[in-house]
Amino acid sequence: MRMILLGPPGAGKGTQAQRLVDAYNIVQLSTGDMLRAAVAAGTPIGQRAKAVMDAGDLVSDDILVGMISDRVNEDDCKNGFILDGFPRTLAQAEALEDMLAQKSLTLNAVIEMKVDDALLIGRITGRYTCANCGAGYHDENLQPKVAGICDNCGRTDFSRRSDDNAEAVTTRLQAYHEQTAPLLPFYQAKGNLKTVDGMADIDEVTRQMKAALEPG
Ligand code: ADP
Ligand code: ADP
Ligand code: ZN
Repeated sequence: MRMILLGPPGAGKGTQAQRLVDAYNIVQLSTGDMLRAAVAAGTPIGQRAKAVMDAGDLVSDDILVGMISDRVNEDDCKNGFILDGFPRTLAQAEALEDMLAQKSLTLNAVIEMKVDDALLIGRITGRYTCANCGAGYHDENLQPKVAGICDNCGRTDFSRRSDDNAEAVTTRLQAYHEQTAPLLPFYQAKGNLKTVDGMADIDEVTRQMKAALEPG
């Protein structure tokens, strides 16, 4: 199973990817997570990306395409993958087409998660994750079952992203509408675009996604 999750920042891509990974035994390839790891490790890519990410702008296509083409060659991608946050520009989508064709791979689906901008600001400013295992939470929408303790790993340290502030969010939403939204007609024309209601509750979105991934 190979799929793309397409949606604005805060649409729920990471939340749903964590569930689909378990359901289909595939890996989540989050370019945001990869870039944040590069920033934390202080690699040359991380040093180039940090200020761009903090401002909410997109990191250059050549960096992203190189990162993904190396990553999909790794062994754990053999059974399939979820692209979470890639492609984000038409140039990236075209590079991905070439990359997959060279490996004789096809995409099963491109799933658009549709959410109104007004809802996204609250989703992003309320978002936090477990600092140990990366499980995602939200101040109002998705709290741990026991306050302050991660459901998944039992640890008590949580973190928030430096770009999850109101100012960077505005720039990120603008980047989505200008540079990423053109991918919707691109994949529509290829016939593999499915749309789910990203404003529904988390379980309902998962249900719609699984239905969209059924063959036929
Ligand atoms: P969100 O899930 O909130 O949309 P991500 O974690 O996917 O955020 O991305 C965080 C930041 O990393 C983006 O704002 C952008 O600067 C950079 N980034 C991630 N993926 C890409 C990509 N495919 N192309 C360009 N920049 C990217
Ligand atoms: P993305 O990866 O697309 O940027 P996330 O999966 O990180 O988005 O979700 C953003 C925030 O919204 C998180 O705090 C998450 O817990 C919350 N969230 C995700 N999906 C839903 C939903 N369907 N309803 C309400 N809150 C949600
Ligand atoms: Zn945890």
